[in-house]
Amino acid sequence: MLLESNEIPNEAALRCELCIVGAGAAGITIARKLIDRGLDVLLLEAGGLAPESATQDLYAGSVVDERLHSPPIRYRQRMFGGTTTIWGGRCVPFDEIDFEHRDYIPHSGWPIERSVLMPFYEDANRLCEAGDFSYRAAEEFGQPLPPMIAGFESANFTTDTLERFSCPTNFGRRYLRKLSNAPTLRVLLHANVTRIELNDSGEHVVQLIVRNLQGKRFSVTAKDFVLATGGLEVTRLLLANRDVHPCGIGNQHDVVGRYYMCHIAGTIGRIRIDGDLDRANHGYDISDEGVYCRRRLALREEVQRSQQLGNFIARLHHPRITDPAHRNAVLSLLYLAKFVIPYEYGKRLHGDDHATFRSWAGHLRNVVTGPFEAAEFAWQMLRDRKLAERKYPSVIIRSKANLYSLDFHAEQQPNPESRVSLSDETDALGMARLKVDWRYTTGDVDTVTRALALLAGDIRRSRVGSFDYDPATVEAEMTRYGAYGGHHIGTARMGSDPRSSVVNAGCRVHGIDNLYIAGSATFPTSSQANPTLTVVALALRLAAHLDGQVRR
Ligand SMILES: Cc1cc2nc3c(=O)[nH]c(=O)nc-3n(C[C@H](O)[C@H](O)[C@H](O)COP(=O)(O)OP(=O)(O)OC[C@H]3O[C@@H](n4cnc5c(N)ncnc54)[C@H](O)[C@@H]3O)c2cc1C
Repeated sequence: MLLESNEIPNEAALRCELCIVGAGAAGITIARKLIDRGLDVLLLEAGGLAPESATQDLYAGSVVDERLHSPPIRYRQRMFGGTTTIWGGRCVPFDEIDFEHRDYIPHSGWPIERSVLMPFYEDANRLCEAGDFSYRAAEEFGQPLPPMIAGFESANFTTDTLERFSCPTNFGRRYLRKLSNAPTLRVLLHANVTRIELNDSGEHVVQLIVRNLQGKRFSVTAKDFVLATGGLEVTRLLLANRDVHPCGIGNQHDVVGRYYMCHIAGTIGRIRIDGDLDRANHGYDISDEGVYCRRRLALREEVQRSQQLGNFIARLHHPRITDPAHRNAVLSLLYLAKFVIPYEYGKRLHGDDHATFRSWAGHLRNVVTGPFEAAEFAWQMLRDRKLAERKYPSVIIRSKANLYSLDFHAEQQPNPESRVSLSDETDALGMARLKVDWRYTTGDVDTVTRALALLAGDIRRSRVGSFDYDPATVEAEMTRYGAYGGHHIGTARMGSDPRSSVVNAGCRVHGIDNLYIAGSATFPTSSQANPTLTVVALALRLAAHLDGQVRR
C-alpha cells in the first residue's frame, strides 16, 4: 500500500514488525525481499515520487574544502528510489582482497569474507538488472574477444575482468508497483525520520519520530528498525540523536562519521597504441542478455599484496574534453552542450578549466569541421541513451590516431581524519545539517603513482605503444575534480570491535539490540568497485537475517 504522510493523523502512533527508513537501493531491496514473507513492514521515505526542491534542501550541508568535495545536496536524491534515480548503473562486485586485513593498509579488513556475500551477489545482479553474475570476459563471452590492446602482456594487470551495466535501473520506478501491491507492506512517502528514541539504558530503539514539511508529526514503533538512508544520512541520524548517548547513537568511541571514503579517480596522460586502429578495443561488448559490459585494466590481487598497493583499475579514455586541441568534433560538441548535462555528470566531463573566448572558438571550429561526425554522435546519443530502455553507458570515442588518455578508479584508504560531522546550522525540520571534511592520504597518492608506473612499464615492455604522463602531476590529477561523487563509504563501519566500528558483522549497531544499518556506510574499505551492487547484496543478506529474527 502506498500512503502519504499527510494522510496520517497528527501525533498518531503507527506500529509494525519491521520499520525500514529510506527507499533507495538498500531500503527497497529489503522491503521487496520481505513482501511475501508475511511480515508487517513499514517503509518510510522522506521524499515523494518526483524530485522536490524543498525536500532536496533537507540534504543541504557544508564542506570544509569545496575543491575536494561537492556540497552534500549534490550527488544524492531525497525521493522514492533515492540516488538510483540518477546513478550511472556500473555494477562491479568487490574483490576477495577487499575483505582481507592488509598490514600495508591501515584499518583494513572486514569481519566477513567475500564468500559470505557470494550467495547474495547473484540476486543483487538480477535486482540491478545487470544480467548474470559473470564478471570474467573469458567466461561471459565464450569465444575470445579481440584483445583489449593487441600484444599487451602484463604480469601486473589483467584485462579479463568486466564491469556490467544496469539499465540503469531506477529502483523507485522499477519496483513501485510490486511494493504498492504487497498486502503486508506500507510505503509512506514524505515521511522524514528526525528522531530515534532509545530506552533509558540506551540498548533498544523504542520508537522513531517522523515529520513532514507541512508540520505533521507521528511516531512509529517496531520490533526492528533498519536505517537505509544512504552513506551520509545514516551518519547524520546517528549523530543527531543525543538524548541517551551524549555523543550520538553508536558513537561511544567516536567512530561514527569517521573513515569517510569515496574513490580516488582521475584522467591522466597520453597513451598511443602503435599500428592499426583495431589494435585497441576499449568499448562495450554486449552479453547474450543485451547487457553492456566493459573490460578494464585491473591490478592483480597478488601484485597488490607483493607491492603493498591499494586496489586499482584503469580504462582507455578519450582526451581531456576541455582542451580543443584534441580536434575532435564529438568531444567539442559535448563541451558546448555542457549546460544541458546534469551537474553530477558535467563536473567530471567538463572539469574546472575556465572557458576562454579562444577555447570556445576552438570547440566551435572542431564541430564545424566535423559536422557529420558530430551529427552522427548526436543521433546515436538520442537513440541509444535518451530513447533506449537500456542506455548506452558512456561516451566512447574511437581515436583516429589511436591516442587515448587513461581513466583510473582506485581504492581510497580508510582514514579516521576524513570525516562527516554535524554543523551548527539546522534544516527546516530542525535537524542539524552535515559538515563534510573529506581527506585523502599519502597512501592513496602512492597507490595511484605506483600503479601508473607499473602500467607504463608494461606498455613499454610489451612494445604496443607508449604511455606518457608527468609523475609529478599524479596528485593534482587525482584530486582535480575532488572526491568521486556519489560513493559515500565507511562512516558507520562494520567490525567486531565496538572501539573501532559502529555495526557488527550482521550490520546491527553495537550495543543496540534492534537497530540495523544498510548501505555503503557500513563498508570498512572501499575497493576499486562502485558500491551499489555490494550495497544490494548486503541488503539481501540483512533481509534474510531479519526475516528469521522478526519471526523469532
Ligand atoms: C551521479 C551518480 C552516479 C552513480 N553511479 C553509480 C554507478 O555507476 N555504480 C554504482 O555502484 N553506484 C553509483 N552511484 C552510487 C549509487 O547511487 C548509490 O550507491 C546508491 O544509490 C546507494 O543506495 P542507498 O539505498 O544506500 O542510498 P540512496 O539511494 O541515496 O537512498 C536513500 C534513501 O533514504 C531516504 N532518506 C534519507 N533521509 C531520510 C530520512 N531522514 N527519513 C526517511 N527517508 C530518508 C532518501 O530520500 C533516499 O530515498 C552513483 C551516484 C551518483 C550520484
